[in-house]
Amino acid sequence: MSRSLVIAIDGPAGTGKSSVARGLAVAMGARYLDTGAMYRIVTLGVLRAGVDPADAAAVAAVAAEVELAVGHDPGEDRSYLAGEDVSTEIRGDAVTKAVSAVSAVPAVRSRLVALQRELASAPDNVVVEGRDIGTVVLPAADVKIFLTASAEERARRRDAQNVAAGLPGDYEAVLADVRRRDHLDSTRAVSPLRAAEDAVVVDTSDMNQAEVIAYLTELVEQKAGVAR
Ligand code: C5P
Repeated sequence: MSRSLVIAIDGPAGTGKSSVARGLAVAMGARYLDTGAMYRIVTLGVLRAGVDPADAAAVAAVAAEVELAVGHDPGEDRSYLAGEDVSTEIRGDAVTKAVSAVSAVPAVRSRLVALQRELASAPDNVVVEGRDIGTVVLPAADVKIFLTASAEERARRRDAQNVAAGLPGDYEAVLADVRRRDHLDSTRAVSPLRAAEDAVVVDTSDMNQAEVIAYLTELVEQKAGVAR
């Protein structure tokens, strides 16, 4: 590709966003930035500090000090809290339950948004994945994609993932959690989850991962006017 491209991928949980964003980054030879992992690292820091995620002032104080780092290789999922590899722990239940509350705190968002802009500014192709990338973090991104899928389909996928990971299946509980997180993420005062006006909205309910990646790769080529 002749010039570096910034691709923003937003959307709710369970749309296959992470796998698709990584797949697109691999196809483009781009770096990959998982902003959700950054909110998860801060959340783990909050939990380890024994702070109530609902206590916004205490959360803000922890967030100001937390030392975090993320890898940018799309083939590897690496997250660090104060130099410790926490890549597995940040995907656990405790962090997943608390992350919406932590990410609604304005001081958390302003610190992470600044860091995300810095990380995305290197002169390479980069795929940045999150909830507010096209709207707030990188409004000048070359291509903005908003992935959606029905709540039922997203819950079905996550329930199947749980079962595959050896956890008990509970579709109704997963669906309730998907709806709870959707509601929190789309109604919070700062950076609510919504598609940018110039985003291409892609409904992945009836597409498999390979189809979505192929579709997005083509879209990037078209939009950016570049050849693979
Ligand atoms: O993408 P992932 O599910 O790992 O994100 C975890 C949480 O982090 C989301 O549910 C959301 O509350 C928050 N988040 C955010 N803004 C982003 C990325 C994630 O608020 N750009």
